Amino acid sequence: MRFSALAALFVLLPAAGLTQQQNTVDLIFENDRTTARSAGAFRHDGLLYISLNDLCEGFGLRSYESTDSRKLEIKRGNARLKVSAENPFVVLTDQTERRSVYQLPVNVIHAAGTYFVPLELFVPLFERISGRSSSYQPATNAILVEGSTPSFEVDIPTILFEPKVNGLVIRVKASRPLRDFESWLRQDGWLYVTIAEARADTQAINRLKTDGMIRRIVAIQTPTSVQLTFKLSGKIAASEILPDDHSDDILISIRRPGEEDKILLERKRQEIRKGLEEQRDRWKLDVIVIDPGHGGNDPGTTGLNRTREKDITLKIGLKLGALLEKEMKDVKVVYTRKTDRFVELDRRGQIANENNGKLFISIHCNALRQKPSSVRGFEVYLLRPGKTQDAIDIAERENAVIELEEGYRERYQELTEENFILVTMAQSAYLKSSEVFADILQHELGDHLPIPNRGIRQAGFYVLVGAAMPKVLVETAYLSNREDERFLRSDTGQEKIARALFNAIERYKEEYEKLLEEGREIGVR
Ligand SMILES: [Zn+2]
Repeated sequence: MRFSALAALFVLLPAAGLTQQQNTVDLIFENDRTTARSAGAFRHDGLLYISLNDLCEGFGLRSYESTDSRKLEIKRGNARLKVSAENPFVVLTDQTERRSVYQLPVNVIHAAGTYFVPLELFVPLFERISGRSSSYQPATNAILVEGSTPSFEVDIPTILFEPKVNGLVIRVKASRPLRDFESWLRQDGWLYVTIAEARADTQAINRLKTDGMIRRIVAIQTPTSVQLTFKLSGKIAASEILPDDHSDDILISIRRPGEEDKILLERKRQEIRKGLEEQRDRWKLDVIVIDPGHGGNDPGTTGLNRTREKDITLKIGLKLGALLEKEMKDVKVVYTRKTDRFVELDRRGQIANENNGKLFISIHCNALRQKPSSVRGFEVYLLRPGKTQDAIDIAERENAVIELEEGYRERYQELTEENFILVTMAQSAYLKSSEVFADILQHELGDHLPIPNRGIRQAGFYVLVGAAMPKVLVETAYLSNREDERFLRSDTGQEKIARALFNAIERYKEEYEKLLEEGREIGVR
């Protein structure tokens, strides 16, 4: 049983001039005596008064209060018992709708929201509505009732909290339809909910853990309604109470102010913007990888005058690096080698990746087996299966170096058409950018070198496979051709090539970063 009415009585009775000792009376059901319930009571003018509301609850009966006329009605089936505040008359309507009026020798006392009746005089009347024989036993201060303890009917067993993006939904679980409810949100963050003609498991609800938007819950069972009070944290814009469409539950939605929505939205926008900027920074053309072909015990191809490819590529590479370091200060230059040393083909790609390279340029010199040859000029290569026999031959020559590497058979997959499909699929993100750079490069080389432009080609170079970034391989000129060899050996020739490469990088960088500014993804199709 509850003691809330009783506790309130303590406070209110002195104000009403009723200074009598407060008390309780136990309800003992014969069949299970251990289960005791109790009702609020007090003595006044030599009579023991008992709370009729508590009595109803103890007997598992529903009571309905009309606050306007201050009447309390108890119902069981068609039978009804009605008392009025400060009035001695009791109206009884039996199951057959026959109505009788009884007069108590004293008035019913209405205090603390509860109706008090003189116990011993009232028990016979109460038997008529409860349908159970009962007797008050002064010795034990208990009402002995026949039968078993009536089961408690609870309409509201618990409350659930469902957090939402912009607030919270309080779900008042209901085991039957509850028609009459209202809520009131106060400026200070208290939310009051009244559910009429309902009974709640207030103990369970008051024990609920609170967090987030709910700071406190107070559930009070009044004789005629359930009062739920929530202390909400933070600013609340609005609340709404409505029945759930899919159950008997009552939903109370609590919405945070729109200002906060805006703040959240702005924060989200900032995060997105920051993410984009980071993305942009990540894509920025800030690391250029220069890969001078061959080196160490791999001389590459040799010219008519014993010019070694590895020496020319290193010289061009270093000259290009110096230009970049001097004239493109926001760019970091990474070399796969800066000296005459051997570097495995796959290691070159690794160096590029480890340094977050954004462009990979592999520098080589071409040659035909037949020397001297009239064939001369430069070629720019993209990583794709070679389509022409020339391209295949060149790739084979450039790839042949792997045979100098330890365990090359395990390290390199044969660049068959099939393998290429896999490689290019994984690298298609860089293909578009590679094409853009190759196009710029062939124009720069074509405009500034005194040697023919043999165009953009494609071939399967191992050195290009591993680098996860836009990449090209440039065959600068033919060491098997007298004029080309002279050009490659000369300081001015090397400088011209380095300058053309530099110009191409500069133009590419401009174009690339302009696209980045526009927020377009580069190289990703
Ligand atoms: Zn080479």
